[in-house]
Order: sequence, then structure tokens, then C-alpha cells
Amino acid sequence: MIIIIHESYLDSDGNALPMSEDTCGIEGCSAPAVKSYSAKVCIQAGLKPANDKAKRVHLCKEHNKELKKATKTDRLLESLGR
Ligand SMILES: [Zn+2]
Repeated sequence: MIIIIHESYLDSDGNALPMSEDTCGIEGCSAPAVKSYSAKVCIQAGLKPANDKAKRVHLCKEHNKELKKATKTDRLLESLGR
């Protein structure tokens, strides 16, 4: 059996790249995505999805951090009227 490895799935060091090349779905951000959330959650956290029709939004490491922070302080923000 011959196994063909497509070069496009390997980076210059020969490491396999993830099959999907998702990038952050937040407006103005194109960092690689680490997680995806429903668009609703992102909007509630104060993030702005680039595609407002998307049901799921991919988030990069930084925006993932921001979302987690925002959802934790949700009640605080509400009390501040934001
Ligand atoms: Zn991002």
C-alpha cells in the first residue's frame, strides 16, 4: 500500500498542519482560531463578528480570552449600564 502525503498539509518543517484553516471571525482580526462559539455568545461578550449572519464564530486565542473575561464580568458590566 502506498501512502501519499500531500505536501500542502505539511509546513516547512514537515509538521502536519490542521486540516481546517479557521481564522478568527471577529472583525479586524485574522489570527488562527482556537475555538468556536455561537455568534450570540460573542455578541453578548461585546465582540463583533465580521460576518453577522454566521451562527458560529471562530475565536483566536486572544479573543477567546476576551470572551471568557467578558462572560465572567457580565453581571458587573450590566450593573454599569454597558
Ligand atoms: Zn481574534
